[in-house]
Amino acid sequence: MMSSVPSSDKKSKLLVYSIEECPVDGQKTKRAFQVGDYVTKDGAKCTKCGNQTRVSLVFAESSRPSG
Ligand SMILES: [Zn+2]
Repeated sequence: MMSSVPSSDKKSKLLVYSIEECPVDGQKTKRAFQVGDYVTKDGAKCTKCGNQTRVSLVFAESSRPSG
């Protein structure tokens, strides 16, 4: 019926982020990666000028237990 998965959390998780960059003023916004994201994909509106941003970078960081 139910298979119990052994809890092995010895590896640190990776957090993936996307950087959305405004082509007009270079405003960069870091946000959590969402499935389907890719570089050059349309992002949200720029918070400064309201232009369409593009995903300029996708990267991962290892999560750290820091406050
Ligand atoms: Zn802008």
